[in-house]
Amino acid sequence: MDFDLVTIQPIQAAWLSAENISLDVLRLDKIHPIVSGNKWFKLKYYLQEAVALKHTTVATFGGAWSNHIVAAAYACQEAGLKSIGIIRGEQSPALTATLKLAKEYGMELIFVTRESYRKKAAIINDYATNNWFWISEGGYGEQGAKGASEIFQIADFSNYTHIIAAVGTGTMLAGLVLSAGNHQKVIGISSMKGNVSLHEEVLSLTALQKPGATFQMIHDYHFGGYGKYPKPLIDFINDVHSNYRLPLDIIYTGKTFYAIKDLVTKKFFEPASKLLMIHSGGLQGNKSLPRELLAF
Ligand SMILES: *Cc1c(COP(=O)(O)O)cnc(C)c1O
Repeated sequence: MDFDLVTIQPIQAAWLSAENISLDVLRLDKIHPIVSGNKWFKLKYYLQEAVALKHTTVATFGGAWSNHIVAAAYACQEAGLKSIGIIRGEQSPALTATLKLAKEYGMELIFVTRESYRKKAAIINDYATNNWFWISEGGYGEQGAKGASEIFQIADFSNYTHIIAAVGTGTMLAGLVLSAGNHQKVIGISSMKGNVSLHEEVLSLTALQKPGATFQMIHDYHFGGYGKYPKPLIDFINDVHSNYRLPLDIIYTGKTFYAIKDLVTKKFFEPASKLLMIHSGGLQGNKSLPRELLAF
């Protein structure tokens, strides 16, 4: 992982200058071509704990295109740990690009039906005698939030008025809430449809260190739901790439950038606001698309 590769990319656009708003993008996607973005930060303390507790094998959950699965495989290999991926759905004849890489990074894949996948406690129980160290799906949890809070150590972000990031489990957002200054507003853009419990999740992940923390969760930019990529989203991602040389992913960051543009245009932010978008990575997941959809 090379944090020196992270850049802060200013976006120059008429829709920003018209509102006297500035937007920078923190390019966490650049730290590694596959293990990009926030997953590395979220995994750090889980793996430290696994090593400290003398586990030799880490197990976790994810789908066939999961950013978390491939990041966990890589991070475990780096940490000298064996990794197991419990993968949602029956194994298809050909592995996805994501699972192929996870395997190359040494992960053993165990496929379970969608129905069994929902019963994670039962799966953990099935393997109870193996002494595996379990990490929740997506790296969800307090250790994940603690790791994500270190995103703020990359540079001095105190000048920004708003920090905006994509939300899956809410773990990264919790980390950002923990490290943001009181003068900064933290805004999460949910990639899921109507997952209203996310607000409570983030509150509970931050309760110990920052009780009653304030942040905003926005649910209006799911584009039909998690993993959905209707044409307007694809067109938008292609436009952003050709206008600003900024590659976005279909699950998280594409929706977040879209939300920022829409909110700016609707005068959601006061004039002179300085926005920082966290580009949390996820570009490897774009390989799930038919080849001709994205121009990059
Ligand atoms: C996992 C992921 C997220 C969501 O992070 P959470 O901590 O689960 O909310 C956002 N962006 C990308 C690219 C991701 O891979």
